[in-house]
Amino acid sequence: MSQEIGSNNLRACILGYPVDLVNMDDAVCFADNYIKKSTGGHVVTLNPEMIMQGEKNTQLSTALKSADLIIPDGIGIIKALNKLEIKHIKQLPGIEFSEKLISTCAEKGYTIAFLGASKDTVDIMVKNLKEKYPSINIIFARDGYFDENAETDIIGQLADLKPDVLFIALGVPKQELWILKYKNTLNSTLMVGVGGSFDVWANKVKRAPFIFRKFGLEWFFRLISQPSRFSRMFPTLPLFFIKVALDNKNTRKEF
Ligand code: UDP
Repeated sequence: MSQEIGSNNLRACILGYPVDLVNMDDAVCFADNYIKKSTGGHVVTLNPEMIMQGEKNTQLSTALKSADLIIPDGIGIIKALNKLEIKHIKQLPGIEFSEKLISTCAEKGYTIAFLGASKDTVDIMVKNLKEKYPSINIIFARDGYFDENAETDIIGQLADLKPDVLFIALGVPKQELWILKYKNTLNSTLMVGVGGSFDVWANKVKRAPFIFRKFGLEWFFRLISQPSRFSRMFPTLPLFFIKVALDNKNTRKEF
C-alpha cells in the first residue's frame, strides 16, 4: 500500500498474501483519497478461497499481491489474524464496503461504472441504486458476458469516460485478472472486484440473515442456499487453516 495515501494502515501477511488491517472507515477513507488523487487502483476483498486459488494460479496470486487495498472480507482471514494475536480487526464484508463506497460516491458526486452479472441483473441494480441514492452518477453499466471484440470496445469506452470507481462483478479469478490486465489502461479509476454483489443489489440473491453474519457464518448460509459451492469450499477451507497453522514464515504480523 502506498505509504503516502495509506496513512497509518498496517499490513499483515497471511500465507504470503498482504492483508490491510483496516476497519470500514479506514477502508472508505483510503478509497476516497485514491479517488481524489485519480491515481487508479485495485481493491480486493480477500477471503481464504481466493488465497487458495492464488496458490494454483500465478496470475491471480500476482493480482492479489499487487492490489492497493486488501480488505479482510472472509471470516477465515480474521481467524488467521487472530492466530497472529491481531484481535482488533473485525471482518469487513466486501459488499458492505462497496455499499458504503457507493453512498460516498453519491454524496461527493464521484462517477461510477458497473461491469458484470447478467443484463437483467444490471438493469434492475441500476434502477434500485438510483432509487436509493437519487444523486448517484452512474456513467456506465453493462453485463459481464462479452466476447473479445466487445471487451476491446468496453475498455475503449471506460478509458474515455474515466469513471472514478468501477465495480466489477465477474467472479474470482476472472474479475481480479481483468483488473490486473487493465490497471495501466484505466489508470485513473479505482477498481473493486465485488463477486456476486450485483445479484444482491438487484434483489436476486439474498445475503445471509443477520444472525449468520453476526457469528461469521455467511459462508455457511451461502453453502446451504447454493450447495453447488460445496466443491469450491471443501477441501479448500480446511486446507487453508492447516496451512496457516503450519506456515509461520509466510503468516506473520507484518507484510
Ligand atoms: N459473471 C459474469 N461473467 C462471467 C462469469 C460470472 O458477469 O463470465 C458474474 C455472475 O453473473 C455473478 C458474478 O459474476 O453475478 C459471480 O458471482 P459469485 O457469487 O460466483 O462470485 P464469487 O463467489 O466468485 O465472488
